[in-house]
Amino acid sequence: MTSLADVMQGAVLPGDSTAELKEFSVPEPGHGEVLIRIKASTICGSDIRCIYHEHLGKGPEGYQGVIAGHEPCGQIEKIGPGCRRFKEDDRVIVYHISGCGVCYDCRRGYMISCTSEKYRRAYGWQRDGGMAPFMIAEEKDLIALPDELSYMDGAQVACGFGTVYEGLEKIGISGNDAVLVTGLGPVGLASAMLCRCLGAKQIIGIDVIEERMELAKELGLCDHVLKAGPGNVAEVKTLTGGHGVERAVDCSAHHTARATAVQATRKWGKIVLIGEGGTMNLNPSPDMIHDQKTLYGSWVTSTWKMEELVERLVRWNIHPADLVTHRFALEDVGGAYALMASGKCGKVAVCFDEELTA
Ligand SMILES: [Zn+2]
Ligand SMILES: [Zn+2]
Repeated sequence: MTSLADVMQGAVLPGDSTAELKEFSVPEPGHGEVLIRIKASTICGSDIRCIYHEHLGKGPEGYQGVIAGHEPCGQIEKIGPGCRRFKEDDRVIVYHISGCGVCYDCRRGYMISCTSEKYRRAYGWQRDGGMAPFMIAEEKDLIALPDELSYMDGAQVACGFGTVYEGLEKIGISGNDAVLVTGLGPVGLASAMLCRCLGAKQIIGIDVIEERMELAKELGLCDHVLKAGPGNVAEVKTLTGGHGVERAVDCSAHHTARATAVQATRKWGKIVLIGEGGTMNLNPSPDMIHDQKTLYGSWVTSTWKMEELVERLVRWNIHPADLVTHRFALEDVGGAYALMASGKCGKVAVCFDEELTA
């Protein structure tokens, strides 16, 4: 192993729509921890919504001024004492919330829902994340990255694709289904991509941003892309023999689009809400009760389901990295966040080494 430098640059988000590079010492892995050489670190909608513009979360749930980036993927540089599974040079994805490991939710694999106030810390929010050349992660938070997938594929799994897979598994997608995806940002595009692999034969997407609508068409992810508007429910019904879709996935967090997702779903259909924030108006009897519909909420995923997803991605021979439209070096991290905040892009990544030149 080559000797490491003592210091490195890392990006922090002051909360005024800028990203700032600061100097940090290269950390040493403690017991049960590993030092990861970051290869790809993608930017999430939640980074923009809750940290970049302003710091929305408060107290222990809020951003703590740490190195940003909760979608990291890289290679293990150094192993701390007491690790049980992974070794140096292993390629790994970091499940982005480190839980206590022993509460009910952690034991189910859903560290996102960890109930320990002291030990629940998300990478890039309450502990240092992936917007730096190196980061420390706990071994229990790691998912092995199969050789068939790139680091950029892995970064996409760390949050977005994992979250989407969980939501789709909750409503169940098969070849029986026409699916509506409202909101074609990276999470919506990922939904369309996975729905296709799960067998959906007709996928309809809705958005307002031209770049995103184009991307959904170019990549062949959606069969129909509609411009968001008051006629959407009628348009979806027309495309589905007058009945509506069997399944709908809201990735927009917009109240009108959520109403469309519910109303454009046919009798006995299922809807899942993945997009965070915003509000929703429902007329329970006509929208839900009389048509026997089921509405799910879904938040992130579990470590075991993330492991299952990477196995499926290899089997399906798809690459989540296809949704990455822009790659930036760490020095240009400010441009990366600004572009993601504009929405005029697919997924935006900060990357290193082979992923920067890919
Ligand atoms: Zn995320
Ligand atoms: Zn826990």
